[in-house]
Amino acid sequence: MISTVLPTYTRAPLTFVKGEGTWLVEADGRRFLDLGAGIAVNALGHAHPALVAALSEQANSLWHVSNLYQIKAQQKLADLLAEHTFADTTFFTNSGTESCELAVKMARKYWHDKGQPERTDIITFEGSFHGRSAAGIAAAGSEKMTHGMGPLLPGFVHLPFGDHDALRAAATSKTVGAILVEPVQGEGGIRPLPDACLKGLRDLCDELGILMILDEVQCGVGRTGKLFAHEWAGVTPDIMMVAKGIGGGFPLGAVLATEDAASGMTAGTHGSTYGGNPLACAVGVKVMQIVTGDGFLAEVNRKAGALRQKLESLVATHPSVFESVRGSGLMLGLKCVAANTDVVAAGYDEEILTVPAADNVVRLLPPLTLTDDEIDAALTRLDRAATKVALGV
Ligand SMILES: *Cc1c(COP(=O)(O)O)cnc(C)c1O
Repeated sequence: MISTVLPTYTRAPLTFVKGEGTWLVEADGRRFLDLGAGIAVNALGHAHPALVAALSEQANSLWHVSNLYQIKAQQKLADLLAEHTFADTTFFTNSGTESCELAVKMARKYWHDKGQPERTDIITFEGSFHGRSAAGIAAAGSEKMTHGMGPLLPGFVHLPFGDHDALRAAATSKTVGAILVEPVQGEGGIRPLPDACLKGLRDLCDELGILMILDEVQCGVGRTGKLFAHEWAGVTPDIMMVAKGIGGGFPLGAVLATEDAASGMTAGTHGSTYGGNPLACAVGVKVMQIVTGDGFLAEVNRKAGALRQKLESLVATHPSVFESVRGSGLMLGLKCVAANTDVVAAGYDEEILTVPAADNVVRLLPPLTLTDDEIDAALTRLDRAATKVALGV
């Protein structure tokens, strides 16, 4: 008989009942070190006092009003995003995949209104992930996500990762309107796009006059040590998808855009009942204030350096389990020799949570608030887990 919860996930037999910072408490009382953070969602850890206060205060005054009216917290968050990023304007969603839907609509509407309605194609890359909605799976295009789900939304051109010649050839087509890319692929196995490639993409988009859409749903909001990952390359997109970390655990997503890229999105062209609701935005404002606060990102970079150095020695100590460390900031991947799922499972036994990704990678996406002691605790646990995997026990 089918489970009452639709069985689309293979779930570990773990039930967490409480979260405190980087720690999750299991129903049986065991304390797990959480290096998954709900897949880069709990950017400030669990139950951060400032987020709890912001949410409680909002909950005590107003939960929901329609976007037919002014929403104070939404306006404040949009102002903060405009202040700290390339964006002139933001639409709020509830998830990453909804941000993908709007990014696609925005790009198409842009070209329609510019009098080039044939520019409906969006170039995407192998190994990418843009969510599970119709546009999201069509954009990524992998067999795993699209099998049996057709007919797929048309208008995506899938290219291999890192093939510059294929990219130039495809991008010069008069039906291409945009390029969509993750600065660091998350689900694809923590594959960072080198800064030079992101710069090259920006130059190509400028040369051909097409839009650059970045998916920073996983790599954004301080994860790589900059507020947004593209800042490392010194370039800015035209449109950017955000979600995950921006809500700190409360469902919140966003599409940021320049005034020009957003020019087609006039009154009535898009909407969302819940998008930008007061509860989500009250939390989002607090997340932004903390992540952009004095010294916060400097600390992320310092801790990321320390964690990475220790992971390098872990890899050297367990060559039959790990091959290398890759990633950016606190978005790190352990490329495995052993099966990544065995490493994650051995971690469960050592009370540490990590997340598998494609390309046989184990992802480490800890809360950005991770402490130095927790880095040491993580290494002790990962070392024990790797020893068990190496011994095959
Ligand atoms: C998680 C993710 C999404 C989808 O976000 P949802 O909130 O699950 O819809 C899209 N793009 C990237 C890069 C992601 O990591």
